[in-house]
Amino acid sequence: MKPWANYPQQNEQVKIALFFPASLKNFGIHKKLIPFGNGRSYGDVCLNDGGALLLTRGLDRFIVFNPANGVLRAEAGVLLSEILALTVPQGWFLSVTPGTQFVTLGGAVANDVHGKNHHVAGSFGSHVRAFELLRSDSERLTCTPKQNIEWFQATVGGLGLTGLITWVEIQLQRIANPWIVAENRRFASLDEFLALNDDYEARYPYIVSWIDCAARGRALGRGIYMAGMHAPPGLMKPPPAERRALTVPFAPPISLINNLSVRGFNWLYYHLPRPARGLIPYQPFFYPLDNLLEWNRLYGRRGFFQYQCVIPPLDAREALREILARIAASGQGSMLAVLKRFGERTSGGLLSFPRPGITLALDFPNRGQKTLALLERLDEVTRQAGGAVYPAKDARMSGDSFRQYYPQWEVFSRSIDPRFSSSFWRRVIAD
Ligand SMILES: Cc1cc2nc3c(=O)[nH]c(=O)nc-3n(C[C@H](O)[C@H](O)[C@H](O)COP(=O)(O)OP(=O)(O)OC[C@H]3O[C@@H](n4cnc5c(N)ncnc54)[C@H](O)[C@@H]3O)c2cc1C
Repeated sequence: MKPWANYPQQNEQVKIALFFPASLKNFGIHKKLIPFGNGRSYGDVCLNDGGALLLTRGLDRFIVFNPANGVLRAEAGVLLSEILALTVPQGWFLSVTPGTQFVTLGGAVANDVHGKNHHVAGSFGSHVRAFELLRSDSERLTCTPKQNIEWFQATVGGLGLTGLITWVEIQLQRIANPWIVAENRRFASLDEFLALNDDYEARYPYIVSWIDCAARGRALGRGIYMAGMHAPPGLMKPPPAERRALTVPFAPPISLINNLSVRGFNWLYYHLPRPARGLIPYQPFFYPLDNLLEWNRLYGRRGFFQYQCVIPPLDAREALREILARIAASGQGSMLAVLKRFGERTSGGLLSFPRPGITLALDFPNRGQKTLALLERLDEVTRQAGGAVYPAKDARMSGDSFRQYYPQWEVFSRSIDPRFSSSFWRRVIAD
């Protein structure tokens, strides 16, 4: 079990580069393999204790980009930030982006990542037109929503277990300029969040809410809506001066994120005056954490756990109230607590996490058993409500929980490459 701060030291690492060998069999590796993108998953889906990692960042070439229709094909190790640098000046943006641009195309497919526009656009896999899957027996499969469908559905959200994705073709969306019209609004409780949500969703393609999970009683679930849309033509400012990202230089021996700092930060963040509406560049809107490199070090050497669950719509109000109450009572708060509704659109990925409901994501400093016990108490609520926990952000869910959250796991298992496995998979399904 590994919180995110511990990086993969125990894994043999194999660099996959431009001249990827035709066959993994002749590669001199006899251990089990798992692809490693840019390591932005918070848990062990990209780790392989005792096995080997296929480091994919060497697959870094663009193959084709058509600025007339926004179709882009690139090797799987290309970062989303590299795609944006190429396409935003030409008027195209990712159809779906997670909260960091430092993830690879392969990683975005394998976790079927979601973004602030899930209620209108679904997840990343819904915008994948095609990819190539290289199996360890040298077979190369071109997979699309209409060709090799079963491989497409197993690999989108397939946690890297079905083989190596070598290239991906995606559909981008048109934008007029790099600016976002953003709106902020406070809500005083979970009930107010739910009451306002329909109105915001009707007006904005991008919505996410920060919540103060240290608040209790009537303030339980209070927070801030952050909504946005790509600015229309003509509504833009001169390009902002480029800002250099700051870096947290080292991990202090103890976490700087503790009860006191969480309560203080959350109170301030909630009450801070902020403009109700404004025009901002896309980077701080989509990727606020990318401006503070190595931010995970703030959690000290023991690291932290993420917890992201989704609760089906019917039970969402009660289950979320219970989850927030359990967190507030535990005194183990989170600064980065995020709430969002997932829409109906799904990518068809057998193990995809996004499904209709409300999703809540939180960070907890690793306080050992105390934190694990809290997370298990949160899992009780999620299981009871028929929800699910996100594997990309997990380092501790039990096998029983996983099998309940992902009932298609047995169908999926038939597509696993016999040479592939991961620490996550061995943890939730014995080898
Ligand atoms: C600050 C931050 C914000 C985030 N916000 C969001 C968010 O809003 N929404 C969201 O969904 N996620 C979010 N994430 C999680 C992140 O988007 C995913 O974990 C993503 O999959 C990481 O991609 P990666 O390239 O770093 O892949 P890794 O983390 O290295 O690997 C992820 C999975 O992809 C597989 N994989 C990687 N490359 C390949 C390949 N070429 N072929 C086959 N399999 C491959 C790996 O085996 C592994 O199972 C966030 C993470 C951070 C750090």
